[in-house]
Amino acid sequence: MQLRIVLFGAPGSGKGTQAKKLVEAHGIPQISTGDLLRAAVAAGNELGNRAKAAMDAGELVADEVVIGMIHERLNAPDAVDGFILDGFPRSLPQARALDELLESLERPLHRVIHLEVENEEIVQRLLARGRADDHEDTIRNRLQVFDRQTQPLIEYYQQQNKFVAVAGSGELDQIHARIEAELLAP
Ligand code: AMP
Repeated sequence: MQLRIVLFGAPGSGKGTQAKKLVEAHGIPQISTGDLLRAAVAAGNELGNRAKAAMDAGELVADEVVIGMIHERLNAPDAVDGFILDGFPRSLPQARALDELLESLERPLHRVIHLEVENEEIVQRLLARGRADDHEDTIRNRLQVFDRQTQPLIEYYQQQNKFVAVAGSGELDQIHARIEAELLAP
């Protein structure tokens, strides 16, 4: 079964874990623009140099840079049978560019899944993790930025009838099963 999905989830929502489970279950790659950008920065190539300043400042990298990168990645042979997009799109221009690209490849998105966890629960999860950069006000700020960025994208995909919200609380396997159920739904 071909599966082309976008996975939304706030930092601390468990998106990474669920993406991994989907990769294992379906044998399709997880494509994370954050990972691709970090690799470009580490490689010190031109793309990485263009992205670095924005990343260091915690800002979004220019749409054209990220879109170009995704374009190239989606044309790789391992993405032909499907993919899980993680961290992309992050803006409406990115979402529109993705639709155009996938349309030209005749491989439209199937679903956009939002792994939903109450902000209070995320704050508790991340505080329990106890990393140095996980102060409560920093976490709340990151969540606010995420919500602000994601809301227009949710509306965009709702209009296409592709959006589904999945509850991200509970057992990891149970959450995975909820996602799978949404993927099977017509
Ligand atoms: P992430 O690992 O998804 O949190 O991404 C790390 C950083 O890479 C972000 O803070 C942005 O600076 C940049 N980045 C990742 N994905 C995107 C995107 N789709 N659009 C713009 N910038 C991005």
